[in-house]
Amino acid sequence: TIPFDIERIRADFPILDQEINGRKLVYFDNAATTQKPIPVIEALMNYYRGYNANIHRGIHTLAEKATADFEASRRAVRDFLNAPSAEEIIFTSGTTMSINLVAQTYGRHFLKEGDEIIISGLEHHSNIVPWQMLAGEKGLTIRAIPVLENGELDLYTFEGMLSERTKIVAVNHASNSLGTVNPVKEIIAKAHAAGAVVLIDGAQASSHLDIDVQDLDADFYALSAHKIYGPTGLGVLYGKRALLEAMPPYMGGGEMIKEVTFEKTTYNDLPYKFEAGTPNIADVVALKAAIDYITKIGKPNIAAYEHQLLQYATEQIGQMDGIRLIGQAKEKISVLSFVLEGVHHQDIGIILDQQGIAVRTGHHCTQPVMDRFCILGTTRASFAMYNTMEEIDKLVAGLQRVKKLMA
Ligand code: PMP
Repeated sequence: TIPFDIERIRADFPILDQEINGRKLVYFDNAATTQKPIPVIEALMNYYRGYNANIHRGIHTLAEKATADFEASRRAVRDFLNAPSAEEIIFTSGTTMSINLVAQTYGRHFLKEGDEIIISGLEHHSNIVPWQMLAGEKGLTIRAIPVLENGELDLYTFEGMLSERTKIVAVNHASNSLGTVNPVKEIIAKAHAAGAVVLIDGAQASSHLDIDVQDLDADFYALSAHKIYGPTGLGVLYGKRALLEAMPPYMGGGEMIKEVTFEKTTYNDLPYKFEAGTPNIADVVALKAAIDYITKIGKPNIAAYEHQLLQYATEQIGQMDGIRLIGQAKEKISVLSFVLEGVHHQDIGIILDQQGIAVRTGHHCTQPVMDRFCILGTTRASFAMYNTMEEIDKLVAGLQRVKKLMA
């Protein structure tokens, strides 16, 4: 049973109603980006048609309405993450910028030569490279929690890696290439016991799992709007107030200041200290529509249905001859990664596209994960609330065709 009216949901996503190469589109690339429901598209249109204006300093009616909607969205994000306050919600351009912000402000200000940063073997490049850049500048050491054969993190080894040198632990809540859900609450508790602060990359988890930054006790939590049915080029950084207050600003410019003279500048209060320049107003406004949409359907309902999709796909594809599933963690988001013996993932992607099926192929910005499993890349099908069992049947048929053509 499906916990919601799937046909109504599909009707809310106009992009799905099209043909690709003469076949009805099957969109299984949701881990890369999710499609946008009509309320999100309309929020963007309404903003530009009705009340586009620069925010915060204006006293005219349009500026006030734009400011009110912008700040209402910040409060919606606070609720979405159960953050203590809206001042701890900073808008960025995405998870990537959120992580870079923490590395370049907290990291650059508080870490010194010899300190260690622990990441994991499951990280997206955006949770590796910013730390490497910082490490190169400051003489830090980066260590990675190993990945077990089933795609889970080796937490036993992690405990041994922690020491008084550990200053930052940065791991994802869920892996984009394998779907593994990491026990971040436990990781955070252990890191805190060693005196480290923890950044959680929630880019993948945020559309699937209920997030409660207070229950997790996360110091920083990063996510991207486009992966939760919202607009591209917009993200969020949650940070604990005391940390954000202690951190220097990231970029300088308008909005992030209190007073400027040529001699000295004082910085604005949270969250504006970290929001230099005119922000992405339209997309922030539309993000609230995405959050409202998810909330209305209910994340537990979405997760339960996605789990059904994942289970069905895992059974159907897992039993095919020549298929090797990569990553079979006990707890997963709806991401299925696999390789087909003797066939390059790129060929699979092309042949599936000919049948209207959109999957992602390659290393998924997680080259260390591919190295860990001694593969060049995978084919990844990732499911969202608007996908159906029939679409998974089409994927299975598509893969049979790949085998016929390539065998
Ligand atoms: N982390 C993870 C786990 C991701 O899946 C992604 C996006 N693929 C990112 C970080 C980066 O997100 P963005 O490109 O939106 O900044």
